[in-house]
Amino acid sequence: MAETTAPTITQKPYVITGIARETPDVNIFSFKAQDGTKLDFDPGMFVMITYSNPATGEKITRAFSIASIPGSDTMEFFIGMVHGRFTSRLDTAKVGDVYYFTGPHGQFRFMPRNGDRVSFIAGGTGLAPFMSMLRYIKEKGLDTDVKLLYSVRYPNEILRKGELEGFASSLKMKMTVTITRPDGSEGWEGEKGRITPEMIKRAIPDPDGRTTFICGPLGFVKAVKEHLKSLGYPDDKVKADVWG
Ligand SMILES: Cc1cc2nc3c(=O)[nH]c(=O)nc-3n(C[C@H](O)[C@H](O)[C@H](O)COP(=O)(O)OP(=O)(O)OC[C@H]3O[C@@H](n4cnc5c(N)ncnc54)[C@H](O)[C@@H]3O)c2cc1C
Repeated sequence: MAETTAPTITQKPYVITGIARETPDVNIFSFKAQDGTKLDFDPGMFVMITYSNPATGEKITRAFSIASIPGSDTMEFFIGMVHGRFTSRLDTAKVGDVYYFTGPHGQFRFMPRNGDRVSFIAGGTGLAPFMSMLRYIKEKGLDTDVKLLYSVRYPNEILRKGELEGFASSLKMKMTVTITRPDGSEGWEGEKGRITPEMIKRAIPDPDGRTTFICGPLGFVKAVKEHLKSLGYPDDKVKADVWG
């Protein structure tokens, strides 16, 4: 895989242009730079978003992975509405509100090219950086060979389901979704339960020569890394983005 130079970090006001309830616990927020410029970033990177209350001087900053494609003038984020300090502010956010972005940041970068072979392992909103990568692969018409293993609690928590199914049918991508809380998910015919080494073998039967990217909460990433180790994946071919 090609190494690219990190894009320049900038700090700017961004305006909310869209808020969509994607699943019961995740909203998709869209932003545009107030000055109309586009942020230069590679798929997989994140920005620090700051909420600033001019009345009280309160400032809260959190990291969010960019789900949109490089070159787009809209920045999209999959945000788990966990009602914490930052996300509670987003509960009442509306189109037109201004937040401040610093970025892009992160070493979890992948600029896909023809011939690359990769595996993406995502937990929940950890799908976001992979969405940026997949959208890039689709837009450029690349033949990147992708195995996606995606873990969510319930079938109705699969983010951008239709778009993912479109990638699975139009790209060189095999998608495996596992539902970790299958109770009440009658009719679900895919994988069930947390990711295990056996499940990884089924989802990625041809791991040789692939680079594997993992993204999600701390416990998820730790467990998947252990499984990959037990399966003999070389450390230098595994990259992780941890949100804990
Ligand atoms: C590099 C990076 C990229 C990230 N990208 C994303 C992203 O794309 N989408 C996204 O939703 N988050 C992402 N996060 C997490 C995000 O930065 C915040 O930590 C998260 O939004 C919670 O912030 P908060 O202030 O609302 O919660 P806090 O006030 O910090 O925490 C409140 C409570 O919520 C719990 N909590 C925090 N996060 C979660 C969670 N994800 N699920 C369940 N409970 C939680 C905490 O344990 C705590 O008990 C990323 C983090 C990093 C480091």
